[in-house]
Amino acid sequence: MKRVVVMDVSDDKDKPEPLKLINPEIIWESEETSIYQEGCLSIPEQYADVERPAEVGMRYMDENGETHEIEADGLLATCIQHEIDHLDGVLFTDYLSALKRNMILKKVQKLQKTKKSA
Ligand SMILES: [Zn+2]
Repeated sequence: MKRVVVMDVSDDKDKPEPLKLINPEIIWESEETSIYQEGCLSIPEQYADVERPAEVGMRYMDENGETHEIEADGLLATCIQHEIDHLDGVLFTDYLSALKRNMILKKVQKLQKTKKSA
């Protein structure tokens, strides 16, 4: 089974720079952490601050079967960790307190109900 992620953190919408990752894995992470407000297509319209390692090293294979190792920081580091979490079935809400997570889940359920009745 292949674990595949495609992501694009480029600012310029006219010039997409998709990063295609096959079997990506985090090979190291910094002790230093940073906090980003994360959102997720799987949890519509909900955002929360998540603390993660500020820098990570990642090994992955590209679409030509070549293995790469890169270092990432900033938004890219956060996205890499967020997306690899997805491959492991982990959502950003899993990093929140139970109280915050339940609040978000309730909001999403409410949102889904409104959509259904609309
Ligand atoms: Zn996500």
